[in-house]
Amino acid sequence: MSIFRPQYTIDTVYNLNPVTLKKMGIKTVFSDLDNTLVAWNQKETLKKISQLRNRLNQHEISLVVISNNKYERVNKILEPLGIEFIASAKKPFKKNLVKAMAQDGVTPAESLMIGDQILTDILAGNSAGMKTALVKPLIKSDGWHTWLNRLVEKFILGCLNSKEKITYQEDLHEQ
Ligand SMILES: [Mg+2]
Repeated sequence: MSIFRPQYTIDTVYNLNPVTLKKMGIKTVFSDLDNTLVAWNQKETLKKISQLRNRLNQHEISLVVISNNKYERVNKILEPLGIEFIASAKKPFKKNLVKAMAQDGVTPAESLMIGDQILTDILAGNSAGMKTALVKPLIKSDGWHTWLNRLVEKFILGCLNSKEKITYQEDLHEQ
């Protein structure tokens, strides 16, 4: 089960604190898009994404988005913001995460994979040897295409919680 356990949790990606990340030795934050950075097509979150990027960049930490969603959707959101991304990333496979780390010139220990799904984001990040952080999904239901994922996820969370309860805090918090 440990491959499914996030090393850290945090209430939301928008709480990421560059000082905490620096202490952890993080140079690049690789973030999921849907339900982590954006809930459906909420336009107001665009400003929040660029503010987060700027805040990280001020401390020489990069933000790269790793999404399983298709190129058109990811590009439409992130291209205007000038944020680096990989679409159709096929998480939980680690291949594209390994590629993204190489492109950014960072090691797994200098990388944080953050997202709302254990089955994709956390599994992929853990497989790639990165540090991983689980966030609460921005909205509870994000469409029919992930309901099965959510069901399996609920089961895995139940198993993890029975061993040691996963809790969320305002800033990154070790599990
Ligand atoms: Mg997601």
